[in-house]
Amino acid sequence: MTDQPPNTTTDSGIPVPSDEHALTVGQTGPVLLHDFYLNEKLAHFVRERVPDRVYHVKGGGAFGYFEVTADVSQWTKAAFLSQVGKRTPLFVRFSVVAAEEGAPDTDRDVRGFAVKFYTEEGNYDIVGNNTPVFFVRDPMKFPDFIHSQERMPDTGMRSNNMQWDFWTLSPESAHQVTMLMSDRGTPRTWRHMNGYASSTYLWENAAGQKFWVKYHFKTEQGIQNMTDAESRAIRAEDLDCHRRDLWEAVARKDYPSWRLEMQIMPFEDAAGYRFNPFDITKVWPQRDYPPIPVGRMVLDRNPENFFAEVTQVAFEVSNMVPGIGPSPDRMVLGRMFAYGDSARYRIGPNYDQLPVNRPASAVHNYNKDGPMRYHHSGSQPVYAPNSYGGPKADQHRYHDAGWFVEGAEIARTAYEAHKDDDDFVQAGTLYRQVMTPADRDHLAGNIVWHLSQGVERFIQERAVNDYWANVDHDLGTRVANDLGLAAPAR
Ligand code: NDP
Repeated sequence: MTDQPPNTTTDSGIPVPSDEHALTVGQTGPVLLHDFYLNEKLAHFVRERVPDRVYHVKGGGAFGYFEVTADVSQWTKAAFLSQVGKRTPLFVRFSVVAAEEGAPDTDRDVRGFAVKFYTEEGNYDIVGNNTPVFFVRDPMKFPDFIHSQERMPDTGMRSNNMQWDFWTLSPESAHQVTMLMSDRGTPRTWRHMNGYASSTYLWENAAGQKFWVKYHFKTEQGIQNMTDAESRAIRAEDLDCHRRDLWEAVARKDYPSWRLEMQIMPFEDAAGYRFNPFDITKVWPQRDYPPIPVGRMVLDRNPENFFAEVTQVAFEVSNMVPGIGPSPDRMVLGRMFAYGDSARYRIGPNYDQLPVNRPASAVHNYNKDGPMRYHHSGSQPVYAPNSYGGPKADQHRYHDAGWFVEGAEIARTAYEAHKDDDDFVQAGTLYRQVMTPADRDHLAGNIVWHLSQGVERFIQERAVNDYWANVDHDLGTRVANDLGLAAPAR
């Protein structure tokens, strides 16, 4: 080791003479085009960005591990869950949904909660949020929902009017909007919120028995939120408070942790359950399917480089390992293609070769070449079938984790409504039975403030009469009173 820093080089490793001065003709003459180091420096600089994610742009993340704390082999054969005490390395990315890079961390919004497990049978990604439900239940409406949360096409401004117009015309959003307008819409830190896969997934055990499951990551730091007033005050002081908080906690070895709890529904229960269990706008009430603690996730290492690891990490809904599969939840099925596609566009077709995305297990297949390909299989055959020892898929050992019905008619329909399915019922339960009086006061106040920011009168009236009064008549009346509108009819 020497105290001298290394000499600067070009990207080809050639030592360069100056970090400060371009090559010129005399002291006052033109800059020379053959200054190869200046050219490379500027050319690389203008290519420093990759396209942003379309949403969940701003975020932060950390590495850590998952440890199994209960035997789940009766429900899934997933290798990384096979033994109590088993640890799997992982990376987690938290994010704000609508905000761009540089926007405040404190805005009222849902937070992304995405986990990548580097398992021995490939990467397993859970691409979830800090709420157990979602705004829409059909992927056809997903881009419309995101557009309504972003910026106006003419002014380039955010618009509460556009948000409330979309929400109040989409009654299935009521449950999620109730959570968003509660203080959980402004978490104090990423460490103090729960994570949920939100969608329903399939688990399958070694004997081929299938179960429907929901994932809940419960914060061991305890839930802590900001009030609306606090979040607006912090916004003025620190745009990056959540990113900073996570980084500083990990750096001081105050490692944040979450308990993974599973709701597990026997396969046959789904058809007759009182709610359609695949509808992502609904939870499974805990008295029907009590959450079972199965593991613990700890974040104990900060990224070394934000761009290489946090920006370039790619989570894919379709990354599921043997023993885990999708359910008929349309938000899972509809997202199975888009996430890998987004990474191919944003980073390039070989994004899985970057260290943060690279699986811990070996990759064997017939994909080849493409921009920036680094890992390769030498002279191995590039086609299947072949006579030269290339990889072979084994459908007896690995099969598609499905439930699909052969011969079913192709349809474009709503979900099958079960007995208790109604867009407002669970939001009403949350308001009346779960929220404390203080939670209810904050919820009403947050809704009123949000609806007062540039929302047209007719949309405010729709929000009162067709939305909040359906969630709860008392809540609709409170919102109407504070907005100076007529109370909703009984
Ligand atoms: P429970 O009383 O068994 O569950 C209520 C759950 O609500 C709690 O365990 C907690 O879940 C969560 N919660 C507590 N306070 C708030 C709050 N202020 N805002 C949002 N969520 C809160 O009843 P049910 O299971 O019958 O659910 C009733 C309602 O609770 C649902 O309609 C849903 O709105 C909400 N809820 C239910 C969840 C579930 O999985 N069943 C999960 C989250 C919310 P947690 O520990 O996950 O924070």
